[in-house]
Amino acid sequence: MSDYDQSRAGMCAAYGCPLFGTVGSDGRWYCFCHINKPAALNDSITRMLREELMSIVESTIDIRRCFSSFYGNEAGYRAIQRRLVEMDRKDLLFNADGRDTPPTPPSGRTMKPVVKMWLMRLERELIEQTGKLGEQERLPLTVPTAPVIGPTHATEHFSEAANRLVDRLPEMGR
Ligand SMILES: [Zn+2]
Repeated sequence: MSDYDQSRAGMCAAYGCPLFGTVGSDGRWYCFCHINKPAALNDSITRMLREELMSIVESTIDIRRCFSSFYGNEAGYRAIQRRLVEMDRKDLLFNADGRDTPPTPPSGRTMKPVVKMWLMRLERELIEQTGKLGEQERLPLTVPTAPVIGPTHATEHFSEAANRLVDRLPEMGR
């Protein structure tokens, strides 16, 4: 394994992906966004994660790094919240109810399950957004409509015939 990139250890096998490889497939580890996706979509998924979704990506990585516990690390929790507000995704905040209660109660009791639910919400958002990439490719191409050619000749013939009839009217009346 001479081409093994040590800096990518633990990361998703899709080139340049910022997420951890957490799901195995054919001896490689992929993230939850790249797994079971056609290889042709790999780069567009990575680009979407690195560009418009990067704030959410970083948030999920931060939560995983602290093992879903912000006990004694309220600054870490605050940084994630601030990041989500900056990208105008208040619906993804830890407390989407609008109350700013950090997951670190004074009692010292850790709230891992609640933080894990938050992590799931963030990761589900990444799956849904990147999942749209495949759907777009399945849309049918629009066929341009050919310009309509009007029945100009038919109209001409019809009026000529009508004129001939009018010319003959005096004869018929005699
Ligand atoms: Zn990935």
